[in-house]
Amino acid sequence: MWSKVVRPTSVPEALAALAAHGASARIVAGGTDVLVELQRGVKPTSTLIDVSALRELKGVTSTGGVVTIGGPGDP
Ligand SMILES: Cc1cc2nc3c(=O)[nH]c(=O)nc-3n(C[C@H](O)[C@H](O)[C@H](O)COP(=O)(O)OP(=O)(O)OC[C@H]3O[C@@H](n4cnc5c(N)ncnc54)[C@H](O)[C@@H]3O)c2cc1C
Repeated sequence: MWSKVVRPTSVPEALAALAAHGASARIVAGGTDVLVELQRGVKPTSTLIDVSALRELKGVTSTGGVVTIGGPGDP
């Protein structure tokens, strides 16, 4: 199980958390799959990096026939 939860509010902050915690960290966006895997011991994890507060990764847009899901620059 994990012992620490980090909740960055920007992509650079999230990347810094990933760099700091390395392979012992997992990104979580709601936890539906991650928490089930942790309970099963699928991958040893000490830190959860919760990306649900990152505005840059939110939003689904359709412009000129192109659908964009999340990603930098999105609302
Ligand atoms: C019991 C159960 C029932 C389910 N029922 C349904 C169903 O009826 N219909 C359906 O469509 N799906 C279903 N699912 C699947 C599940 O809802 C989906 O996989 C969904 O995408 C989980 O969303 P989450 O945000 O909670 O993901 P999480 O568990 O938070 O993350 C899923 C994976 O994506 C990675 N991740 C998350 N965000 C990022 C990011 N920004 N960058 C990089 N990696 C990232 C995580 O590290 C993890 O590996 C079910 C799952 C379970 C366990």
